[in-house]
Amino acid sequence: MEKFSCSECRRSYSVGPARWRCDCGFPLDLEFAPEFPIEKILKRGPDLWRYREAIPVAKDRSILSMGEGFTPLVEAEIAGRRIFLKMDYLFPTGSYKDRGATVLISKINELGVRKVVEDSSGNAGSAIAAYCTRGGIACDIYVPHSTSRGKLAQIESYGATLRKIKGSRERTAQVTMEAAKRAYYASHSWNPYFLHGTKTFAFEIWEQMGWASPDALILPVGHGTLLLGAHIGFKELKEAKRVKRIPKLVGIQSTSCAPLYQALRRGWRETQPIEKRETLAEGIAISEPVRGKQILKAIRETGGEILTVTEKEIVSALKEMGRKGHFIEPTSAATIAGVKKYLNKKKGGETIVSSLTGTGLKAVEKISPLTALP
Ligand SMILES: *Cc1c(COP(=O)(O)O)cnc(C)c1O
Ligand SMILES: [Zn+2]
Repeated sequence: MEKFSCSECRRSYSVGPARWRCDCGFPLDLEFAPEFPIEKILKRGPDLWRYREAIPVAKDRSILSMGEGFTPLVEAEIAGRRIFLKMDYLFPTGSYKDRGATVLISKINELGVRKVVEDSSGNAGSAIAAYCTRGGIACDIYVPHSTSRGKLAQIESYGATLRKIKGSRERTAQVTMEAAKRAYYASHSWNPYFLHGTKTFAFEIWEQMGWASPDALILPVGHGTLLLGAHIGFKELKEAKRVKRIPKLVGIQSTSCAPLYQALRRGWRETQPIEKRETLAEGIAISEPVRGKQILKAIRETGGEILTVTEKEIVSALKEMGRKGHFIEPTSAATIAGVKKYLNKKKGGETIVSSLTGTGLKAVEKISPLTALP
Protein backbone atom coordinates (compact mmCIF):
# COMPACT_ATOMS: atom_id res chain seq x y z
CA MET A 1 0.00 0.00 0.00
CA GLU A 2 0.97 3.68 -0.37
CA LYS A 3 2.90 5.49 2.38
CA PHE A 4 2.94 8.97 3.89
CA SER A 5 6.19 10.84 3.42
CA CYS A 6 7.49 14.25 4.45
CA SER A 7 9.25 16.37 1.85
CA GLU A 8 10.77 18.52 4.59
CA CYS A 9 12.49 16.00 6.90
CA ARG A 10 12.22 12.79 4.82
CA ARG A 11 10.44 10.77 7.51
CA SER A 12 7.86 8.28 6.28
CA TYR A 13 4.88 6.67 7.96
CA SER A 14 2.39 3.94 7.20
CA VAL A 15 -1.09 5.23 6.39
CA GLY A 16 -3.42 5.22 9.38
CA PRO A 17 -6.44 7.18 10.60
CA ALA A 18 -4.71 9.15 13.37
CA ARG A 19 -1.90 10.80 11.44
CA TRP A 20 -2.57 14.04 9.57
CA ARG A 21 0.84 15.73 9.66
CA CYS A 22 4.51 14.91 10.10
CA ASP A 23 6.11 14.92 13.55
CA CYS A 24 8.13 17.91 12.29
CA GLY A 25 4.86 19.80 11.71
CA PHE A 26 4.99 19.76 7.91
CA PRO A 27 2.08 18.48 5.76
CA LEU A 28 2.52 14.95 4.40
CA ASP A 29 2.74 13.69 0.83
CA LEU A 30 1.76 10.30 -0.48
CA GLU A 31 4.16 7.79 -2.01
CA PHE A 32 2.10 5.93 -4.53
CA ALA A 33 2.72 4.22 -7.87
CA PRO A 34 0.01 5.16 -10.38
CA GLU A 35 -0.63 3.44 -13.69
CA PHE A 36 -2.31 4.76 -16.82
CA PRO A 37 -3.65 1.89 -18.95
CA ILE A 38 -5.23 3.88 -21.80
CA GLU A 39 -7.16 0.94 -23.20
CA LYS A 40 -8.92 0.35 -19.87
CA ILE A 41 -9.49 4.07 -19.28
CA LEU A 42 -11.29 4.38 -22.63
CA LYS A 43 -13.73 1.59 -21.76
CA ARG A 44 -14.93 3.30 -18.58
CA GLY A 45 -17.68 5.83 -17.92
CA PRO A 46 -17.14 9.61 -18.18
CA ASP A 47 -16.13 10.35 -14.60
CA LEU A 48 -12.87 10.84 -12.74
CA TRP A 49 -12.79 7.22 -11.52
CA ARG A 50 -11.94 6.20 -15.08
CA TYR A 51 -8.31 6.76 -13.98
CA ARG A 52 -8.84 4.00 -11.43
CA GLU A 53 -5.26 2.67 -11.41
CA ALA A 54 -3.94 6.15 -10.60
CA ILE A 55 -6.16 6.71 -7.55
CA PRO A 56 -4.94 5.41 -4.17
CA VAL A 57 -8.10 3.59 -3.06
CA ALA A 58 -7.59 -0.20 -2.98
CA LYS A 59 -11.05 -1.74 -3.16
CA ASP A 60 -13.84 -0.76 -5.56
CA ARG A 61 -16.39 -1.29 -2.83
CA SER A 62 -14.83 1.52 -0.76
CA ILE A 63 -15.65 4.06 -3.48
CA LEU A 64 -18.23 6.76 -2.71
CA SER A 65 -19.12 8.33 -6.03
CA MET A 66 -21.87 10.31 -7.74
CA GLY A 67 -20.39 9.96 -11.23
CA GLU A 68 -18.40 13.17 -10.70
CA GLY A 69 -15.69 14.54 -12.97
CA PHE A 70 -14.66 14.37 -16.60
CA THR A 71 -16.04 17.90 -16.85
CA PRO A 72 -16.18 19.45 -20.33
CA LEU A 73 -13.14 21.31 -21.62
CA VAL A 74 -14.66 24.25 -23.49
CA GLU A 75 -13.05 26.84 -25.76
CA ALA A 76 -13.56 30.44 -24.78
CA GLU A 77 -12.46 33.81 -26.08
CA ILE A 78 -10.89 35.93 -23.36
CA ALA A 79 -9.07 39.23 -24.07
CA GLY A 80 -9.41 38.43 -27.75
CA ARG A 81 -7.61 35.11 -27.44
CA ARG A 82 -8.67 31.48 -27.50
CA ILE A 83 -8.14 29.46 -24.34
CA PHE A 84 -9.67 26.34 -22.81
CA LEU A 85 -11.81 26.30 -19.67
CA LYS A 86 -12.60 23.27 -17.53
CA MET A 87 -16.24 23.41 -16.47
CA ASP A 88 -15.49 22.44 -12.87
CA TYR A 89 -18.50 24.30 -11.55
CA LEU A 90 -20.58 21.40 -12.88
CA PHE A 91 -19.67 19.02 -10.06
CA PRO A 92 -22.48 17.55 -7.87
CA THR A 93 -21.80 20.01 -5.04
CA GLY A 94 -21.03 22.93 -7.34
CA SER A 95 -17.23 23.15 -7.16
CA TYR A 96 -14.08 21.26 -8.11
CA LYS A 97 -13.65 20.30 -4.43
CA ASP A 98 -15.61 17.12 -5.26
CA ARG A 99 -12.47 15.82 -6.98
CA GLY A 100 -10.65 15.78 -3.66
CA ALA A 101 -13.66 14.83 -1.55
CA THR A 102 -14.70 11.72 -3.51
CA VAL A 103 -11.16 10.30 -3.22
CA LEU A 104 -10.44 11.36 0.37
CA ILE A 105 -13.79 10.20 1.78
CA SER A 106 -13.61 6.92 -0.17
CA LYS A 107 -10.20 6.34 1.42
CA ILE A 108 -11.55 7.23 4.86
CA ASN A 109 -14.37 4.76 4.24
CA GLU A 110 -11.76 2.13 3.39
CA LEU A 111 -9.86 2.87 6.62
CA GLY A 112 -13.08 2.29 8.60
CA VAL A 113 -13.28 5.83 10.02
CA ARG A 114 -16.80 6.77 11.20
CA LYS A 115 -16.42 10.43 12.17
CA VAL A 116 -14.52 13.35 10.62
CA VAL A 117 -13.99 17.07 11.17
CA GLU A 118 -13.11 19.62 8.48
CA ASP A 119 -12.76 23.39 8.24
CA SER A 120 -13.50 25.36 5.14
CA SER A 121 -14.61 28.69 3.75
CA GLY A 122 -17.56 26.77 2.28
CA ASN A 123 -17.01 24.67 -0.83
CA ALA A 124 -14.65 22.12 0.68
CA GLY A 125 -17.02 21.72 3.61
CA SER A 126 -19.96 21.15 1.26
CA ALA A 127 -18.05 18.55 -0.72
CA ILE A 128 -16.75 16.66 2.34
CA ALA A 129 -20.26 16.71 3.87
CA ALA A 130 -21.87 15.34 0.70
CA TYR A 131 -19.52 12.37 0.33
CA CYS A 132 -19.61 11.64 4.07
CA THR A 133 -23.37 11.35 4.06
CA ARG A 134 -23.17 8.89 1.15
CA GLY A 135 -20.84 6.75 3.26
CA GLY A 136 -22.86 7.13 6.48
CA ILE A 137 -19.86 8.89 8.04
CA ALA A 138 -20.59 11.54 10.69
CA CYS A 139 -19.11 14.91 9.94
CA ASP A 140 -18.60 18.26 11.70
CA ILE A 141 -17.83 21.20 9.43
CA TYR A 142 -16.24 24.32 10.92
CA VAL A 143 -16.76 27.54 8.94
CA PRO A 144 -16.01 31.22 9.51
CA HIS A 145 -19.08 33.30 10.38
CA SER A 146 -18.85 35.25 7.12
CA THR A 147 -19.37 32.21 4.84
CA SER A 148 -22.00 32.59 2.07
CA ARG A 149 -25.50 31.56 3.20
CA GLY A 150 -25.92 29.21 0.27
CA LYS A 151 -22.90 27.19 1.34
CA LEU A 152 -24.15 26.97 4.93
CA ALA A 153 -27.57 25.74 3.80
CA GLN A 154 -25.92 23.19 1.56
CA ILE A 155 -23.69 21.79 4.32
CA GLU A 156 -26.69 21.45 6.63
CA SER A 157 -28.83 19.83 3.97
CA TYR A 158 -26.25 17.05 3.70
CA GLY A 159 -26.85 16.34 7.37
CA ALA A 160 -23.47 17.57 8.63
CA THR A 161 -23.13 19.40 11.92
CA LEU A 162 -22.30 23.01 11.15
CA ARG A 163 -20.02 24.86 13.54
CA LYS A 164 -19.82 28.58 12.89
CA ILE A 165 -16.69 30.15 14.32
CA LYS A 166 -16.40 33.85 15.13
CA GLY A 167 -13.30 35.60 13.87
CA SER A 168 -11.00 34.86 10.99
CA ARG A 169 -10.59 31.88 8.67
CA GLU A 170 -7.35 31.15 10.55
CA ARG A 171 -9.15 31.00 13.89
CA THR A 172 -11.58 28.48 12.36
CA ALA A 173 -8.57 26.32 11.41
CA GLN A 174 -7.17 26.49 14.94
CA VAL A 175 -10.45 25.40 16.53
CA THR A 176 -10.69 22.51 14.04
CA MET A 177 -7.18 21.26 14.79
CA GLU A 178 -8.20 21.05 18.44
CA ALA A 179 -11.27 18.97 17.46
CA ALA A 180 -9.02 16.82 15.27
CA LYS A 181 -7.57 15.31 18.45
CA ARG A 182 -10.87 13.45 18.85
CA ALA A 183 -11.94 12.74 15.26
CA TYR A 184 -10.32 12.15 11.87
CA TYR A 185 -9.15 15.39 10.29
CA ALA A 186 -10.53 15.24 6.72
CA SER A 187 -8.70 18.41 5.82
CA HIS A 188 -8.51 19.49 2.20
CA SER A 189 -5.40 21.54 2.92
CA TRP A 190 -3.49 18.97 5.02
CA ASN A 191 -4.63 15.57 3.81
CA PRO A 192 -2.64 14.30 0.79
CA TYR A 193 -5.49 12.04 -0.35
CA PHE A 194 -7.39 15.19 -1.25
CA LEU A 195 -4.58 16.17 -3.65
CA HIS A 196 -4.67 12.66 -5.11
CA GLY A 197 -8.27 13.47 -6.05
CA THR A 198 -7.68 16.97 -7.39
CA LYS A 199 -4.86 15.57 -9.55
CA THR A 200 -7.56 14.04 -11.78
CA PHE A 201 -7.90 17.58 -13.18
CA ALA A 202 -4.57 16.91 -14.95
CA PHE A 203 -5.57 13.46 -16.19
CA GLU A 204 -8.80 14.78 -17.73
CA ILE A 205 -6.98 17.60 -19.52
CA TRP A 206 -4.38 15.13 -20.76
CA GLU A 207 -7.08 12.93 -22.27
CA GLN A 208 -9.25 15.80 -23.56
CA MET A 209 -6.28 17.42 -25.31
CA GLY A 210 -5.54 14.20 -27.17
CA TRP A 211 -3.19 12.69 -24.56
CA ALA A 212 -0.97 15.78 -24.38
CA SER A 213 -0.09 18.63 -21.99
CA PRO A 214 -1.07 22.26 -22.54
CA ASP A 215 1.68 24.90 -22.22
CA ALA A 216 0.25 26.67 -19.20
CA LEU A 217 -2.37 26.23 -16.49
CA ILE A 218 -3.83 29.39 -14.93
CA LEU A 219 -5.43 28.52 -11.61
CA PRO A 220 -6.74 30.19 -8.46
CA VAL A 221 -4.52 29.63 -5.45
CA GLY A 222 -5.40 29.82 -1.77
CA HIS A 223 -4.24 26.62 -0.10
CA GLY A 224 -3.29 25.41 -3.58
CA THR A 225 -5.28 22.17 -3.64
CA LEU A 226 -6.08 22.52 -7.33
CA LEU A 227 -2.67 23.88 -8.31
CA LEU A 228 -0.73 21.24 -6.36
CA GLY A 229 -3.10 18.50 -7.50
CA ALA A 230 -2.57 19.54 -11.13
CA HIS A 231 1.18 19.52 -10.53
CA ILE A 232 1.12 16.03 -8.99
CA GLY A 233 -1.07 14.77 -11.86
CA PHE A 234 1.20 16.06 -14.60
CA LYS A 235 4.31 14.88 -12.72
CA GLU A 236 2.84 11.38 -12.54
CA LEU A 237 1.99 11.46 -16.24
CA LYS A 238 5.50 12.60 -17.09
CA GLU A 239 7.10 9.92 -14.91
CA ALA A 240 4.92 7.33 -16.65
CA LYS A 241 6.11 8.77 -19.99
CA ARG A 242 2.54 9.66 -20.95
CA VAL A 243 3.35 13.36 -21.55
CA LYS A 244 6.54 15.11 -22.59
CA ARG A 245 6.35 18.07 -20.23
CA ILE A 246 4.69 19.56 -17.20
CA PRO A 247 2.74 22.74 -17.95
CA LYS A 248 3.81 26.08 -16.53
CA LEU A 249 1.79 26.83 -13.40
CA VAL A 250 0.36 30.34 -13.09
CA GLY A 251 -1.41 31.07 -9.79
CA ILE A 252 -3.98 33.82 -9.24
CA GLN A 253 -4.46 35.61 -5.90
CA SER A 254 -6.51 38.59 -4.80
CA THR A 255 -4.50 41.77 -4.09
CA SER A 256 -6.36 41.81 -0.75
CA CYS A 257 -4.76 38.51 0.28
CA ALA A 258 -1.62 37.56 -1.62
CA PRO A 259 0.94 35.87 0.65
CA LEU A 260 2.24 33.62 -2.14
CA TYR A 261 2.63 36.51 -4.56
CA GLN A 262 4.65 38.38 -1.96
CA ALA A 263 6.90 35.40 -1.21
CA LEU A 264 7.54 34.67 -4.88
CA ARG A 265 8.40 38.29 -5.66
CA ARG A 266 10.82 38.55 -2.78
CA GLY A 267 12.47 35.21 -3.49
CA TRP A 268 11.35 33.63 -0.20
CA ARG A 269 11.08 29.85 0.19
CA GLU A 270 8.01 30.16 2.39
CA THR A 271 5.20 32.62 3.02
CA GLN A 272 5.12 35.17 5.82
CA PRO A 273 1.92 36.06 7.68
CA ILE A 274 0.19 39.00 5.99
CA GLU A 275 -2.54 41.51 6.78
CA LYS A 276 -5.57 40.28 4.90
CA ARG A 277 -8.27 42.64 3.65
CA GLU A 278 -11.86 41.76 2.73
CA THR A 279 -12.17 40.26 -0.74
CA LEU A 280 -14.98 39.02 -2.94
CA ALA A 281 -12.80 36.01 -3.71
CA GLU A 282 -13.57 34.17 -0.46
CA GLY A 283 -12.37 30.82 -1.86
CA ILE A 284 -8.77 32.06 -2.09
CA ALA A 285 -8.70 34.35 0.96
CA ILE A 286 -6.05 32.23 2.68
CA SER A 287 -3.38 34.24 4.49
CA GLU A 288 -1.42 31.22 5.74
CA PRO A 289 -1.43 28.49 3.09
CA VAL A 290 -0.59 25.17 4.73
CA ARG A 291 1.44 23.98 1.74
CA GLY A 292 2.88 27.39 0.88
CA LYS A 293 6.42 26.09 0.54
CA GLN A 294 5.32 23.35 -1.86
CA ILE A 295 3.28 25.79 -3.94
CA LEU A 296 6.22 28.17 -4.33
CA LYS A 297 8.49 25.30 -5.30
CA ALA A 298 6.04 23.96 -7.90
CA ILE A 299 5.58 27.38 -9.48
CA ARG A 300 9.34 28.02 -9.63
CA GLU A 301 10.09 24.54 -11.00
CA THR A 302 7.65 24.96 -13.87
CA GLY A 303 8.79 28.50 -14.73
CA GLY A 304 5.45 29.90 -13.65
CA GLU A 305 4.36 32.98 -11.76
CA ILE A 306 1.64 34.47 -9.56
CA LEU A 307 -0.55 37.37 -10.64
CA THR A 308 -2.84 39.38 -8.40
CA VAL A 309 -6.21 40.89 -9.26
CA THR A 310 -8.16 43.77 -7.72
CA GLU A 311 -11.77 43.75 -6.53
CA LYS A 312 -12.70 45.90 -9.52
CA GLU A 313 -11.14 43.43 -11.94
CA ILE A 314 -12.98 40.57 -10.22
CA VAL A 315 -16.35 42.31 -10.64
CA SER A 316 -15.69 43.08 -14.28
CA ALA A 317 -14.65 39.46 -15.01
CA LEU A 318 -17.74 38.22 -13.18
CA LYS A 319 -20.00 40.32 -15.41
CA GLU A 320 -18.13 39.35 -18.55
CA MET A 321 -18.41 35.64 -17.77
CA GLY A 322 -22.13 36.03 -17.05
CA ARG A 323 -22.55 37.44 -20.55
CA LYS A 324 -20.80 34.37 -21.92
CA GLY A 325 -23.28 32.08 -20.14
CA HIS A 326 -21.21 31.17 -17.10
CA PHE A 327 -22.73 32.01 -13.70
CA ILE A 328 -19.69 31.53 -11.48
CA GLU A 329 -18.69 32.59 -7.99
CA PRO A 330 -16.44 35.63 -7.46
CA THR A 331 -13.43 33.40 -6.66
CA SER A 332 -13.69 31.88 -10.13
CA ALA A 333 -14.13 35.34 -11.64
CA ALA A 334 -10.84 36.30 -9.96
CA THR A 335 -9.19 33.50 -11.92
CA ILE A 336 -10.56 34.85 -15.20
CA ALA A 337 -9.41 38.35 -14.28
CA GLY A 338 -5.97 36.78 -13.84
CA VAL A 339 -6.22 35.03 -17.21
CA LYS A 340 -6.89 38.43 -18.81
CA LYS A 341 -3.88 39.94 -17.10
CA TYR A 342 -1.67 37.07 -18.22
CA LEU A 343 -2.87 37.26 -21.83
CA ASN A 344 -2.45 41.03 -21.99
CA LYS A 345 1.25 40.81 -21.24
CA LYS A 346 2.06 37.73 -23.34
CA LYS A 347 2.28 37.18 -27.07
CA GLY A 348 0.12 34.40 -28.52
CA GLY A 349 1.14 30.86 -29.29
CA GLU A 350 0.64 29.15 -25.94
CA THR A 351 -2.06 26.58 -25.30
CA ILE A 352 -3.67 27.68 -22.06
CA VAL A 353 -6.11 25.89 -19.79
CA SER A 354 -7.92 27.50 -16.88
CA SER A 355 -10.86 26.43 -14.75
CA LEU A 356 -14.25 27.72 -13.69
CA THR A 357 -13.96 26.28 -10.20
CA GLY A 358 -17.30 27.11 -8.54
CA THR A 359 -20.92 27.95 -9.33
CA GLY A 360 -22.42 31.37 -8.62
CA LEU A 361 -25.62 29.84 -7.29
CA LYS A 362 -24.26 29.49 -3.74
CA ALA A 363 -23.08 33.09 -3.57
CA VAL A 364 -26.16 34.92 -4.82
CA GLU A 365 -26.25 37.41 -1.96
CA LYS A 366 -22.69 38.46 -2.78
CA ILE A 367 -23.21 38.54 -6.54
CA SER A 368 -26.58 40.27 -6.93
CA PRO A 369 -25.47 43.73 -5.73
CA LEU A 370 -22.60 43.56 -8.22
CA THR A 371 -24.39 42.42 -11.34
CA ALA A 372 -27.32 44.79 -10.89
CA LEU A 373 -25.03 47.74 -11.67
CA PRO A 374 -24.42 48.66 -15.31
C1 LIG B 1 -11.32 26.21 -2.77
C2 LIG B 1 -11.57 27.00 -3.97
C3 LIG B 1 -10.54 27.61 -4.69
C4 LIG B 1 -9.10 27.61 -4.24
O1 LIG B 1 -8.58 26.42 -3.84
P1 LIG B 1 -7.31 26.31 -2.92
O2 LIG B 1 -7.13 24.91 -2.64
O3 LIG B 1 -7.55 27.09 -1.65
O4 LIG B 1 -6.16 26.90 -3.68
C5 LIG B 1 -10.86 28.25 -5.87
N1 LIG B 1 -12.14 28.34 -6.31
C6 LIG B 1 -13.16 27.78 -5.63
C7 LIG B 1 -14.54 27.93 -6.18
C8 LIG B 1 -12.91 27.10 -4.45
O5 LIG B 1 -13.92 26.55 -3.80
ZN1 LIG C 1 8.70 16.05 8.48
